[in-house]
Amino acid sequence: MRIGSGYDIHVLTPGRPLMLGGVEIPSPKGEVAHSDGDVLIHALIDAILGAYARGDIGSHFPPSDERWKDADSGRLLSIVLDECRPAIVNIDCTVFLERPQLREHIDRIRESLSHLLSLEADRISVKAKTAEKCFGELGRGDAVVAAVTILVED
Ligand code: MG
Repeated sequence: MRIGSGYDIHVLTPGRPLMLGGVEIPSPKGEVAHSDGDVLIHALIDAILGAYARGDIGSHFPPSDERWKDADSGRLLSIVLDECRPAIVNIDCTVFLERPQLREHIDRIRESLSHLLSLEADRISVKAKTAEKCFGELGRGDAVVAAVTILVED
C-alpha cells in the first residue's frame, strides 16, 4: 500500500464559479485561480502525486504555462491518473468553507469524483466543515481549503 495527502487553498471572489470536485456549487463567490480553481481536485491531484512521490501539482502544471489557463481541473486529474495509474483503495476528503453550506451538495460531489476516478462512490468520503469564523480569510468566507488523504495499492 501507499498513502498520499494533499492540501490546497484558494481565495474566493465575487463573480467566479465555486468548483468543488467537478461540481459547480451555487455561490456568490468562487475561487481565484489560473485554472478553474477546483480546490478539491487540486488537493486530490497532490494526494495522488504524493502517494507515488512524483512531485506536486505545481511542478506538473506550472501557473506560468498558458496551456493551463482556465483549465478544467478534471482534465488535469485525468493527465495525472494516466501517469500514475493508481489502484485506489479509498479517498477521504475534507472541505473547509464558511458558506454556503455544502451538506446538500455532498452526494453530487461524491458522484462526480466517482465518475472522474472510475471508483465506487462508497470508497469516496467527502466531509464539509466551517472554520468557526477562525483563520482570517477562511473564517470570513473569503477562502476555501481542501484536504485529501488517499490509499492506493502499490
Ligand atoms: Mg489550487
